[in-house]
Amino acid sequence: MGTGAAVSAAASADAPGDRSGGAPDVAALIPMVRRIVGARVTDPTAAEDLVQETLVRVLGAVDRVDPDMLEPYAIVTARNVIASMWQEKDRHRRNQHRVVDLRPPAPPDEDLLAAEERAAVSQALGRLGRRERDTLIAHEVTQRDTRALAADLGMSPGAVAAQLHRTRARLRVEYLLALEQAEPPSDRCRPVLLALSGGDRRRQREVGAARHLLECDLCARLSGPLMERGQQRDDEVRIPVHVDADIVLARQTVRELATRAGFTATDLTLIATAVSEIARNIVRFASQGEVVVEIVDEPRRGIQVVARDTGPGIADVEQALTDGFSTYHGLGLGLPGARRLMDEFAVLSEPGRGTTVTMTKWLQKG
Ligand SMILES: [Zn+2]
Repeated sequence: MGTGAAVSAAASADAPGDRSGGAPDVAALIPMVRRIVGARVTDPTAAEDLVQETLVRVLGAVDRVDPDMLEPYAIVTARNVIASMWQEKDRHRRNQHRVVDLRPPAPPDEDLLAAEERAAVSQALGRLGRRERDTLIAHEVTQRDTRALAADLGMSPGAVAAQLHRTRARLRVEYLLALEQAEPPSDRCRPVLLALSGGDRRRQREVGAARHLLECDLCARLSGPLMERGQQRDDEVRIPVHVDADIVLARQTVRELATRAGFTATDLTLIATAVSEIARNIVRFASQGEVVVEIVDEPRRGIQVVARDTGPGIADVEQALTDGFSTYHGLGLGLPGARRLMDEFAVLSEPGRGTTVTMTKWLQKG
């Protein structure tokens, strides 16, 4: 390969059967959604709009709901979408009325709303534990990054990221409940709402979220706003890698994020081992770099690890990826080993400038 960028993008030993289809069986839900909408909305054009709107929302949540929950979630989403259409019409009608009679606008609704929201936020914050609240505020308000927070708290960055994720999930639930100004009708509601809010599919199954959504009006109603939150960046942790201790930190972090993503114990070990090897390479050959661990959702859920360094680079990537080629004097698995442990593996190296390794492990379905 000689000079310049030596590039190797190798999709290593793919697991049997390509599961990269992406969207699960949302299409199979269409007839059911059509029936639900058709029973309530007679205008065919409006009905088709509502069916599509429902599917868009369900697709947006696919990565965060347990597969068994897809159908119940589609049902309550269709109902929510229809309900909000009626509200929309209602609002429209009222506004038309306001245009006709020329009274000065009613007391500023927006101020009232803002006050309600503020009250809801403080009530929701009040429901968090002191430590949760302090960590969240330090992160959101004073912009302390996860690594600095981890040092303050004597935790690993991955554990802090996981805690922040849980805290935000709780905050969203408590906020919506505070806006509703209602205590949930059953003691199952909070666990179900939390599992939805955190996108925790295993937990959704454990608490029977699918069934509960169909039985509980409150949770059915709140499922929409809980699932429609934008993609937040609390699924990514960055670990500077410089000394041996950072290797341990990188390994812990990836374990914690991969656990949250739903990987099995076996996969956790494989992923953590691969990250160890890559981080070890940075310490040994480049002495300065970083490992970024991220939960990804495209085309399906997985863990992506990007390791960058500003070291000497690898002159011949192909050769470095070959078993038996060792610059490590027999220690460790190195690049070929890490490649075999992950589903996707790519190395980009520029001699004299550094190396970037990108590797991904996908969650098996089921
Ligand atoms: Zn409920």
